[in-house]
Amino acid sequence: MIQEQLDTIKKILINLMSSDGFYQRKFEGIDIASIQSQEDFEKLPFTDKGDLRDAYPLGLQAVADSEIVRIHSSSGTTGTPIIIPYTKQDVEDWAIMFKRCYETAGLTNLDRVHITPGYGLWTAGIGFQAGAELLGAMVIPMGPGNTDKQIQMMIDLKSTVLCATSSYALLLAEEISKRRVKGKVHLTKGIIGSERWGEKMRHRIAKELGVQLYDIYGLTEIYGPGIAMSCEKECGMHYWNDYLYFEIIDPNTGGLVPVGEIGELVITTLKKTGAPLIRYRTHDLTRFMPGDCACGLNFPRIDTLIGRTDDMIKVKGINIFPAQIEEMLRGVDGTSSEYQVMIDHLNGKDIMTLFFETEHETDKKSIERNLKQHCKTKIGITIVPKAVTIGELPRSEKKSTRIFDNRY
Ligand code: ZN
Repeated sequence: MIQEQLDTIKKILINLMSSDGFYQRKFEGIDIASIQSQEDFEKLPFTDKGDLRDAYPLGLQAVADSEIVRIHSSSGTTGTPIIIPYTKQDVEDWAIMFKRCYETAGLTNLDRVHITPGYGLWTAGIGFQAGAELLGAMVIPMGPGNTDKQIQMMIDLKSTVLCATSSYALLLAEEISKRRVKGKVHLTKGIIGSERWGEKMRHRIAKELGVQLYDIYGLTEIYGPGIAMSCEKECGMHYWNDYLYFEIIDPNTGGLVPVGEIGELVITTLKKTGAPLIRYRTHDLTRFMPGDCACGLNFPRIDTLIGRTDDMIKVKGINIFPAQIEEMLRGVDGTSSEYQVMIDHLNGKDIMTLFFETEHETDKKSIERNLKQHCKTKIGITIVPKAVTIGELPRSEKKSTRIFDNRY
């Protein structure tokens, strides 16, 4: 933690404790004036998604009604949604960060930004739009779906930058290739957000679209997408440490992990006014990238997302991350980036079945054998490999689930 961040956090804490609200109740009994160092700060309890749900609908709001200009809501697939109130300053700050993301990817006001993430309660589309407008680029606000129209507009308006989830970018790439219109598409860059994705999928999208790909990170609870972004060196994502303080913790013990080790990202907002968050657990797994980036940008980096703490699955006593499965697939010739995992419990034993796509119809058995062997060596677990034909596994415009645990 740098001194400036600590000073800011001290001010925020005193401010939050002086008015009736979410943190005054959450930190009740804690002597906030005694927090004078990073170590003191690390004693503060975490804020979790459950706390935010309990505050539904507007319990997180930390300023007067007159200052709130918008709300966003997390996509919460189950139970009560989370509502995040934004002030005019929050909306502006978010656009400033997003503009920085675009600049990090080398965009200028001559770019034409084709935005496919959704518009509405969640933060995706509108964040991409506000940042691009602040940059002065031309926005093509498509939103998701209607692939025919997407491709038509992309060709006619000469879109240069595609903003999408990785699965939707893949779907568009496959459609463009199927329709043989690659020559008419003017894309040079792809900005891919909102889910973790594998190297192999990245290469497929980049190759089929003929673009350089960039990762963008964010979550509705903390502004939305646009809080971290990869640069042309493709070595993690720079994050904006003048707006946010990042910690990486061991999800089981809550203690900080050494720099460079994988853990859960925890975020404290330094400038957010509508709904500031202190030590918010993202449940995203990543690590700090040590050293400076060769691009020269003076902002620290986290690695591209490695997974979610809740994606961590224990099979036959071994912790497995989806990223490991992807890396393993990468090491076996004839496999594609698409996969699905089924875990079952039969006759007292865990059984992990790995479905993967291959275009080598006649070699399915030998690819399966190689994969089984590779998995045993790399992860230390025996799986049941099942090869399927390219296109057989579902593609999705939303965050896709690839692991199905049928044991419980
Ligand atoms: Zn860089």
